Amino acid sequence: MPDLSALPHVVVIGAGFGGLAAVRALAKKPVRVTIVDRNNFHGFQPLYYQVATAGLEPEEVAHNVRDIVRRAPNVDVRMGTVVGIDMEVQTLAFADGPDLAFDYLIVAAGAETAYYGVEGAETYGFPLKSLQDGIRLRNHVLSLFEDYNVFGDALSDGTLTFVVVGGGATGVETAGALVELYRISLARDFKRFDTRRAAHVILVERADSLLAGYPEDLRAYAKEKLQRRQVEVRVNTAVKAVTENGVELENGETIPSKTIVWAVGVEASPVAKMLGVETGRVGRVKVRPDLSLPGHPNVFVIGDMAEVEGQERLPQLAQVAMQGGKHAAQTVLRSVHAKPSEPFAYTDLGSMATIGRNAAVAMLFGKIPLKGLLAWLAWVFVHLMQLVGFRNRVNVFVNWVANYFTYDRAARLILGSGRNDRGPRFRDPA
Ligand SMILES: Cc1cc2nc3c(=O)[nH]c(=O)nc-3n(C[C@H](O)[C@H](O)[C@H](O)COP(=O)(O)OP(=O)(O)OC[C@H]3O[C@@H](n4cnc5c(N)ncnc54)[C@H](O)[C@@H]3O)c2cc1C
Repeated sequence: MPDLSALPHVVVIGAGFGGLAAVRALAKKPVRVTIVDRNNFHGFQPLYYQVATAGLEPEEVAHNVRDIVRRAPNVDVRMGTVVGIDMEVQTLAFADGPDLAFDYLIVAAGAETAYYGVEGAETYGFPLKSLQDGIRLRNHVLSLFEDYNVFGDALSDGTLTFVVVGGGATGVETAGALVELYRISLARDFKRFDTRRAAHVILVERADSLLAGYPEDLRAYAKEKLQRRQVEVRVNTAVKAVTENGVELENGETIPSKTIVWAVGVEASPVAKMLGVETGRVGRVKVRPDLSLPGHPNVFVIGDMAEVEGQERLPQLAQVAMQGGKHAAQTVLRSVHAKPSEPFAYTDLGSMATIGRNAAVAMLFGKIPLKGLLAWLAWVFVHLMQLVGFRNRVNVFVNWVANYFTYDRAARLILGSGRNDRGPRFRDPA
């Protein structure tokens, strides 16, 4: 084991897209690196909705962090939850375990689900921000179909009505996948009732169209495709409250449901507040053009947590986090070699959202619109390539090919250990 103790110590908070990109750029470089995460895995958030809808298993969209950095002798891993940052003495405090000192700090703790003060949303909604969220939603959805099989109409109204709140990429993808789950896969599983008649998906969006930020024709395409696949799309519809028995809309209407998927938006991780500096939109930390914290040239904030001076509108996307992580790492190395920092320049490689089988929309390089089968194939390719770990890539590829040709979903397992795993609102029929 080489003696690394004389090297500057770079601590990276978060093994998400940004943190991992930073660590990869620092591997085998003249620094000592510790990557810290509350989980022992990197989670591939863009595919959590497929876990929730029984398309993929959790382990196919996550990868052990120690395995990722195994070949980098200068990188260590610390599993733990950061609960405080002392900027004066340059240490991190943990929920349990000793403090950790740093010479350089790269903060990439991401974001959390935002509830925007909507009454009941946090208690009764199902977010999709963590792998556990995906597993919990899958358990809940599959359990409801099993309950309906036993109790049928004796259950309360809306037992098989799935309301997805938020018409961004996550909402669109989840709504499309839920419909495919019960119209194709579960329809063949259940013999006592027709899942296609019993279940219903409603996608609710406050704005006047889905997929804000995409060109008009792609937004219209996504809406039409979802509607043709039996998703009820309600735009210009705002949610006032989420209750035990459904969702209350601002127009006074109530939709009975036991499943309100909350895909409305995110706010910066609470780690942002631990830095003790000014925060901007949705709690994001205001950083200088080189991603450093004002007054702290050795501390960098990247990805979903950062609001970059002069580039305030950068989206909360994996690419932004990855490019930011690489840039912060390069800036650390420049500093180690006594070179000045350079401003971060984001290259838009594009964004995409899938509506389901053979249908997706994409904006390649931020300017080339694509829709339909070609966009869907591009989506499949990009997501496979971005997954961490060769085995995960192969497993997901095999699963997707099998799903495609057999119309089946392998991951239809209810793995909850108790009632709470089915979600906060599950109730036996009276
Ligand atoms: C459901 C969903 C779908 C998405 N789909 C897409 C998509 O299709 N394309 C796209 O580009 N982007 C997508 N995104 C957004 C993308 O995932 C984020 O922009 C990206 O993950 C941000 O990277 P990050 O490094 O800033 O944070 P993250 O990747 O979220 O990583 C943060 C890490 O910090 C850790 N952490 C947080 N707090 C602490 C703490 N106190 N102590 C220790 N560790 C901590 C977390 O465990 C996590 O591993 C999606 C997001 C979601 C939720």
